[in-house]
Amino acid sequence: IENGVSPGDAPPFPQPVKVPEIKYTQIFINNEWHSAAKGTKFQTCDPATGVKICDVDEAGEADVDRAVEAARAAGQRGSPWRRMDVSSRGRLLSKLAELLERDRVLLATMETMDTGKPFLQSFFVDLEGSIKTLRYYAGWADKIHGKTMPVGEYENFMCFTKHEPIGVCGAIIPWNFPLLMFTWKIAPALCCGNTVVIKPAEQTPLTALHVGALVKEAGFPPGVVNILPGFGPTAGAAIARHMGIDKVAFTGSTQVGQLIKEAAAKSNLKRVTLELGGKNPCIVFADSDLQLAVEEAQKGAFYNQGQCCTAASRVFVEDEIYDKFVRLSVESANRVVTGDPMDPRTSHGPQINQKQFDKIMDLIGSGEKEGAKLECGGFAVGDRSLFIQPTVFSDVKDHMRIAKEEIFGPVQCILRFKSQEEVIERANSTHYGLAAAVFTRDVDRALSVSAALESGTVWVNCYNALHAQAPFGGYKMSGNGRELGEYALAEYSEVKTVTIKLAEKP
Ligand code: NAD
Repeated sequence: IENGVSPGDAPPFPQPVKVPEIKYTQIFINNEWHSAAKGTKFQTCDPATGVKICDVDEAGEADVDRAVEAARAAGQRGSPWRRMDVSSRGRLLSKLAELLERDRVLLATMETMDTGKPFLQSFFVDLEGSIKTLRYYAGWADKIHGKTMPVGEYENFMCFTKHEPIGVCGAIIPWNFPLLMFTWKIAPALCCGNTVVIKPAEQTPLTALHVGALVKEAGFPPGVVNILPGFGPTAGAAIARHMGIDKVAFTGSTQVGQLIKEAAAKSNLKRVTLELGGKNPCIVFADSDLQLAVEEAQKGAFYNQGQCCTAASRVFVEDEIYDKFVRLSVESANRVVTGDPMDPRTSHGPQINQKQFDKIMDLIGSGEKEGAKLECGGFAVGDRSLFIQPTVFSDVKDHMRIAKEEIFGPVQCILRFKSQEEVIERANSTHYGLAAAVFTRDVDRALSVSAALESGTVWVNCYNALHAQAPFGGYKMSGNGRELGEYALAEYSEVKTVTIKLAEKP
């Protein structure tokens, strides 16, 4: 699907809903739908056509206050949510996963309308990943526990830890994987017994709101999940600085991540986890399986129109195979099928909006100006559209803007290297540290290069291999903390130490 290998339109592939009914466009608080306190709405549009899909209620500070009040009440001592048997918490998450499965075609259709990503990718990647994330954390709900430890004069003391919910968890998520990021935030938070106030991105509120209805249908008590469609500087900033929110999890740009951390520090020192940008190196050694490396590197560069924090935007290729790698990459890029995202033959859709489109075209222009060789693409497809033809640059040098800045578009930059030491140093010379990849058949080299890379994730002979079971997060300015896997549980729990002095020696 990703590299123009069209699945065709034969029946085993699901078809999008022709005219999906968008039922939920209001603010979701206490398992009820509300208009915005200020009465304002905003439009959400289909990036493939520019046509408005619908109006959505615009949450502001007063709505955030109301949602936080509901979330605090839902999570207070003695509430149904706090008293609930932990395995019932797991059952609710499993039920929610089942409901996503039931509405999978509709949700994938809405995701494609709102983001422009190809429908089959919405169905097979975003929905699959979201459902698996809910199921994975459903399984953890009754397996979260502390330890006992020997302290002091051992026989006189009993000491143990309990893992307790943090309280109200705020979440602010981006538009590139709206539903997947929604589940990455709510699933571990709920599994640990927290309540949630979450703001989807203003460009893509629809699937989150639909899942609000499913949260209610699954049987979560009112106030446990609250969903606030709205803008960053208003609703988002209100979450980041709210005194009634105990933790905030953010995915998005590094600049906004810094604002969130600052707001958290200046308000109540709420816990912060951040998943930010990347300028991810993909290193291809001469001994690698060349065809595999070409395909995976390009999947890394172009997947989701390049709008991935993990995008493989710096591909370092060893001297001996450089020219062949570039030639095969150009052939592969030219096979990508750009077009209507609802068409199952399409593997490449539009960028999310004009701002992102302009930023990418500006960076492409800078690459040409700074002397990189534009091998293919580099232009918009169609008049006044947001589609960008997959683009390959060769002869890219480390100092160029396209080699330094996060592009967030379908642009592959191919750089040449001569030695392992040199490439490690160049790969690490960035403020980011989210993901990296190594292609080689030599297991010693794979392990030593993985060890040397300053990166939260290293893929060997694959790319974008993300799984609910494995932690994900960044070194350096790519973020704080880890999402997914068992590691995320620590980000959504407080640890309480209880030390008991025994009255008499046993
Ligand atoms: P952004 O960081 O502005 O938006 C992400 C989320 O943060 C959205 O929900 C937005 O409403 C919210 N937000 C914005 N300003 C805020 C504020 N002051 N306080 C609280 N919340 C706020 O991203 P963008 O402008 O949509 O995209 C810009 C760049 O960010 C992209 O080009 C890309 O480089 C990066 N980005 C990264 C990711 C990722 O997955 N890491 C996702 C989207 C964008």
